[in-house]
Order: sequence, then C-alpha cells, then structure tokens
Amino acid sequence: MPSYTLECGCGCGTFEAKSPRARWKTPGCKKRAQREAAGTAGADPTAGLKPEDPLVTAVRKDLAAANQLETVDGQIALHLAKQVKAATGTAAGSLAKELRQVLDRIGATPAPTPAGDQPKTAEVEDDEVTEARRRREAKAREAADRA
Ligand SMILES: [Zn+2]
Repeated sequence: MPSYTLECGCGCGTFEAKSPRARWKTPGCKKRAQREAAGTAGADPTAGLKPEDPLVTAVRKDLAAANQLETVDGQIALHLAKQVKAATGTAAGSLAKELRQVLDRIGATPAPTPAGDQPKTAEVEDDEVTEARRRREAKAREAADRA
C-alpha cells in the first residue's frame, strides 16, 4: 500500500495518508479549518498556512490600513484574493474584477505593483512552480488593471 506525505489543510503540518486526495491529518483538523473558514471573530484563517501569496498579503495590508480586515467584506476580499491565485484564464479575470469591486466598495484598493520592480523573481528564476505562479500573478494583475 503506497502512502503519501501530504500537507494538512489546517496548516498543522504534514501527515501520512493512503490516498493522495486526503486533506486532513485528523478529523479535528477538518473541524478546526471549517470553524476558521466560518470566520471566527479575530481569527486569521490563514495563520500557520504556507507562505502567503503576495497578492493576498497586499490585500491584507490594504484591508488592515483601511481597518476592514475583520469585516465581512474584508474577509470576502481575502477569500477572493486567494481564489484569484488558484484560478486561471477567464476565471482569474472575473475573480480579480470581483476582488477589485469589493475593495472599491470598502475603500481599500491595492496599490499597483510597478512593472519591473519584482525583486522576488531574482531568487528562484528557474523554478517551474514559481514561474507558473508568476505568470498567473501577472495575468491576474492585467485582468485587475483592465477591470
Ligand atoms: Zn491539521
């Protein structure tokens, strides 16, 4: 029986599973993740998860600056930001648009990233995953700018 080392969806670490589709280390992990996703007051659902995406970080900063981080709209914006990163093509475009609308509504608009100012790309340039993600980010940014 092959086993897989997977990352628990709640962010508590890795675990051995019999199926590559397993998401939770323990049933408690699933409950905890669901509770956090439901928006426990003050809880940061992404705390302890893997390094955050720059877009999500940017949105979080803007929300914090606008004092909107713990509002429903703020949480929706963060959720959308994460989905933009996971989405591709037209899905990413419409999610970015939605994100922009939420941010506009609450008065927190992400500062545009100046083209050519991307120090993070210097570190791991030939990393395929990073490269793919950078392309997605660029796409999302374009879509957001067009929106
Ligand atoms: Zn867990």
